[in-house]
Amino acid sequence: MPVDARVSTPHRIVIIGSGFGGLFAARALKRRKDVEVTVIAKTTHHLFQPLLYQVATGILSEGEIAPATREVLSHQKNARVLLGEVTDIQVGDKTVTHEVMGRRTVTPFDTLIVAAGAGQSYFGNDQFADHAPGMKTIDDALELRGRIFGAFELAELAPSQAERERLLTFVVVGAGPTGVEMAGQIKELAQRTLKNDFRVINPRDAKVILIDAGPTVLPSFGEKLGDLTREKLEAMGIEVRTSTKVVDVDATGLEVEGPDGTRSRIESKAKVWAAGVSGSPLGRILTAQSDSGLDRAGRVEVAPDLTLKGRPDVFVIGDLMALNGLPGVAQVAIQGARYAVKVITARLDGRPAPAPFEYFDKGSMATISRFSAVVSMGRIQFGGFVAWLAWLGLHLVYITGFKSRVTTLLHWFVTFIGRGRAQRVTTAQQVLGRRALQRLDQADTALPPAARDEDERDMLAAPASVAPAPSPDPA
Ligand SMILES: Cc1cc2nc3c(=O)[nH]c(=O)nc-3n(C[C@H](O)[C@H](O)[C@H](O)COP(=O)(O)OP(=O)(O)OC[C@H]3O[C@@H](n4cnc5c(N)ncnc54)[C@H](O)[C@@H]3O)c2cc1C
Repeated sequence: MPVDARVSTPHRIVIIGSGFGGLFAARALKRRKDVEVTVIAKTTHHLFQPLLYQVATGILSEGEIAPATREVLSHQKNARVLLGEVTDIQVGDKTVTHEVMGRRTVTPFDTLIVAAGAGQSYFGNDQFADHAPGMKTIDDALELRGRIFGAFELAELAPSQAERERLLTFVVVGAGPTGVEMAGQIKELAQRTLKNDFRVINPRDAKVILIDAGPTVLPSFGEKLGDLTREKLEAMGIEVRTSTKVVDVDATGLEVEGPDGTRSRIESKAKVWAAGVSGSPLGRILTAQSDSGLDRAGRVEVAPDLTLKGRPDVFVIGDLMALNGLPGVAQVAIQGARYAVKVITARLDGRPAPAPFEYFDKGSMATISRFSAVVSMGRIQFGGFVAWLAWLGLHLVYITGFKSRVTTLLHWFVTFIGRGRAQRVTTAQQVLGRRALQRLDQADTALPPAARDEDERDMLAAPASVAPAPSPDPA
């Protein structure tokens, strides 16, 4: 049997991102003793994004949907986890530069898997983010939780009816699954959870408006389920405005343009942005060094084997990947991760390359409210209680970690069978942290280095270092 020289030297696989793509790629390499896996991500956790809306509306805690990546991979001896934001990739030199708190590290790779996902897109109006946060991260969800619960608190104190109404009007922009789920949960919060908790306001008076520039709700689920969802939302008392474009957002409201082109204002303090995604900025760094281009959403157009065109050692998977119009969903990231590992291990073993990547669509689902969801699996489409049970089961299966499954089930029981929500804590840091950090950042860069404190100066001055290799597998 021929001996592959690479077996004796561990093959260095660097994975950027600890989301569905990154984590599933790392785990798929678990049994390979001939590889050294380095997962680099800007957060210390793996995030189960589909349940972010439940953190934002007080059903689940952040820990239940975001286990520590280090813990998830603790038994995988060929893998190590590094915290840091990747700021540069040199495809030719085969290095990744990442930074945390001013400490810069350069990590070399033999094969790179980029699974850096996508951020929120405001379609060129990034200033909207100040007043209408998106929902992509734990920070986003906690900020929204603070804003939503905070709006009820301020309404109780409001000096005028107009102010009360403004505070009790919640606007969700984007009628995809996230927007629908958020709108449904805010309404249920007002109708069920908070109904006895205030003395001046009646939380049930809260108005929830769901806006989308397109003509339908849940467009990716088809017309039948879209109509069904709209009916259900309207029956709950949610105002659904389709073919309506948001043209401006400020602290106290939004300006919208209706289907006939007329503009009007909606007074609202608490707004949620759930429309539009934009690929990670790393996409631009990769396309500048390869034959791949970016699509309109800033995603990298990859070759049929998910590699960067002309750069076979770099794979791009998940939400950052553009291939055959595949959607930005967890299954695309998971299947892409497993496929990339198949290609890499075939190369290491000297086997022929697998056939081009083919996505197997397992269907999609979205909840509308407690006991109501929609499921679309090819020709099979249904909504209602059975769909909700299917949603419940599937999400439990995919939540990483036994501990999370048990507590999640408990909290769902509290919310869906009872009226309570276990996670109603909000803090000033949640609501103000993002903008305070932005301001600090701006102020900080304006300061001369001498004005920074001693420790921070040391960290900022730390030379770029090459990340040490992980300790050898004792097994
Ligand atoms: C609110 C919400 C609800 C959703 N609901 C569903 C659903 O119900 N069903 C479904 O199938 N899909 C759903 N999705 C989509 C699904 O979550 C994504 O398709 C999936 O997470 C994509 O996986 P990924 O690994 O490509 O990216 P992500 O999971 O987003 O992971 C990206 C990773 O890269 C890291 N990262 C990014 N930039 C850098 C950098 N510069 N340096 C270092 N690390 C970096 C991030 O920290 C993160 O770890 C939802 C998404 C959201 C936001």
